[in-house]
Amino acid sequence: MSDKTAPTDVQSADDVIISVRDLHKSFGKNEVLKGIDLDVKRGEVITIIGPSGGGKSTLLRCLNRLEEPTSGTVSFEGIDLTDPSVDIDAVRCRIGMVFQNFNLFPHMSVLENVTFAPMHNLGVSKEDAEATARKLLDIVGLAEKADAMPRSLSGGQKQRVAIARALAMKPDVLLFDEATSALDPEMVKDVLDIMRRLAAEGDTMIVVTHEMGFAREVSDRVIFTEGGLIEAQGSPEELFSENPPSERLKEFLGKVL
Ligand code: ADP
Ligand code: MG
Repeated sequence: MSDKTAPTDVQSADDVIISVRDLHKSFGKNEVLKGIDLDVKRGEVITIIGPSGGGKSTLLRCLNRLEEPTSGTVSFEGIDLTDPSVDIDAVRCRIGMVFQNFNLFPHMSVLENVTFAPMHNLGVSKEDAEATARKLLDIVGLAEKADAMPRSLSGGQKQRVAIARALAMKPDVLLFDEATSALDPEMVKDVLDIMRRLAAEGDTMIVVTHEMGFAREVSDRVIFTEGGLIEAQGSPEELFSENPPSERLKEFLGKVL
């Protein structure tokens, strides 16, 4: 502790929850990610924007190894996920993910969807898991749907269950892959409101979205990906300014705003 800079250095290293270095991913001959470098700090809200097919989902899925990187490294809380000996299931318990198409377990009730992973993967008792699940369902406005089956819910309700299910694991980071893209317009706001609230509460979030208003409002940092690379990144003020830092971003925003 004689070195005065040491505590700061330690703290800043500690602050980084996900660290991606020179990440490449190919599907056959299609090189989708061409060298991504990214550090995500604890508590940071990052939105990823960019054209379809640009590799946003692939990037997100490499973060919990739903896709195997072709090369490069992804570290989560200091653990190198590309190391084949890593217990990836244990890591996935720390990373919540919300998908465009909800991916609820269709044969389980809403309550069972939310209690399943805490009971089976974390060994939480049924009683405790249900108590937590009911609290979370209340937070997402679905307390009265605990016994409903997913097929009886609207898209917006399904997505709110999916968010409650992710939160039930008390993850260290939440990944959202176009969580509102499959929803009817009138349902989008309910889901974005919950995401806004999580962001305001300090959750670490990486959000792939086409909702530019949301990105502008909640992001600590906006990342624009195109052609498998991070083409531009910065604060919402910088990226959504009159003069964006990249021509390609300017072109993209011209089409979507
Ligand atoms: P985005 O989310 O930005 O729309 P994706 O990451 O879904 O982009 O896709 C990027 C490219 O990778 C697309 O060309 C897509 O067809 C391809 N791709 C994604 N997943 C797979 C897969 N599992 N197998 C083969 N190609 C894939
Ligand atoms: Mg996608």
